[in-house]
Order: sequence, then structure tokens, then C-alpha cells
Amino acid sequence: MRAPLIAGNWKMNGSTELVEAFGRAFSEARLPSGVEVVIHPPFPYLEAARRAFAATPLGLGAQTLNPLHSGARTGEVSGAMLKEFGVGYVLVGHSERRQLYRESDDDVYDRLIAALSADIRPILCVGETLEERDAGRTEEVVLRQVGHAMARLEPAQRARLVIAYEPVWAIGTGRTATPQQAQDVMAAIRAYQAGYDRDLAARLPLLYGGSMNASNAAELLAQPDIDGGLVGGASLKVDDFLAICQSAG
Ligand code: PEP
Repeated sequence: MRAPLIAGNWKMNGSTELVEAFGRAFSEARLPSGVEVVIHPPFPYLEAARRAFAATPLGLGAQTLNPLHSGARTGEVSGAMLKEFGVGYVLVGHSERRQLYRESDDDVYDRLIAALSADIRPILCVGETLEERDAGRTEEVVLRQVGHAMARLEPAQRARLVIAYEPVWAIGTGRTATPQQAQDVMAAIRAYQAGYDRDLAARLPLLYGGSMNASNAAELLAQPDIDGGLVGGASLKVDDFLAICQSAG
């Protein structure tokens, strides 16, 4: 019922050469049927990616957006611009944006609404720090982040949402959550969503993120509530990323 989605977050990495290597590899690759794959390159590579991915199954994603439609916001990019460009997904609430750019739950909500208004699917990233996990606060923190974003959404907006559970202690650290740890949090997110709407909860795509790689992806993706992955480091290596996509079928 839920098609697998693998999203590659290149962060502030990549090059035209890497974009072209992905274009070549994915134009020849066989992906399991029904698997959707999206690459989120830095903004300057979107145009090269649009060209290089044209004959591939790869979709285009963005890493952030400004909540406003247009105006005096030097350096920023709006949802309307991304939509015009052909971007289908955008990350909101990534822990690097929450921590390094001080994006609060309110800021995340504003970006979520901006994405939905521009008809771009937001991938809402949530996750606890190591301190919060060690204090037994994982569910409380994650459900607060999910709830803050979801509480004011209309059902039609909730139906467009993708949620990525990314324990902060697992991002870029090489330390992956165990499949059971990830599954437990995913199940809690789905149960929370079921409090709003059981049918929507059953359809909500939930991604795991945090040091997913070609060796651990299959076991994580085999969990009943994990529908895909948000992949950072391993999405910069074409063979590893392809292997992750192939294990999602
Ligand atoms: C991320 O940046 O969303 C991420 C999960 O990174 P990594 O896979 O490198 O942990």
C-alpha cells in the first residue's frame, strides 16, 4: 500500500561531475518496481540534475525553502521557485537546520505550509538527540515535533506529508539505530497519526535516516513501519546509493 521512497540528501556536497555520474548509472540501472528515488542536491546543481536525470527514474528534491513566496530575503529560495523548476520534494526540519540555523518548531511549520502551498511534498525530519534518548525522552521529543507540525494541517495537507525519523546521534556518525529502535519510533509516529485519521496513518510514508548504507539498508527497510530511507553520506557514492535503492524492493 505504501510505495518505498529513497531520498538522497547531498547536503553541501557534490559537483556537476557527480550529478552526471548519477545520471549515467541510473539510466542503466534496474530498480525494483514501485521504488521512488529522489536526489536533493545543493541548489546550484538542480539545473544540471534536471538535465542529467531526464532519462532516469530519479526525481528532484530540495534541501530547504523560505516560508515566503517572494520578497527581500537575500540568499533564499521560495517554494514557488522550486515548483516552477520541477522539484517534487523538499526537506523541512532537518536536524542540521534545527541546530545550526536555529529553526524552531514554528519555523519548521512555516516551511511545511510553504511547501504544501507550492504543491511540493515536504519530508518532515524529526529525531531526538543522544541526551534525550538517554533520558528516556525519545517518544516525547519526536511526537512533539510531529505534533507541532501536524496539529494545524487539514486532512488533505496531511495526506501529502512524508515523515523522516532521523535520530540526531545517528546522522553522519556511522552509528545506525538498530532496526528495532527505528521500528519502535516509527510505530509510535504512525499510532500518533492514527489518532487523527486511521486511513491516512496507514498510508503515511515513514523514512528512516541516520547512517543508512548498503550493508544495513535491507534490514532497516524490512521493518513493517519503515517505508524508505533518507540517506546522507551514502547518497554521495553512486554504487552504494544504487545498492540501497535496490534493497528497497
Ligand atoms: C541526513 O543528512 O539526513 C542523513 C541521514 O545523513 P547520514 O546518512 O550521513 O547519516
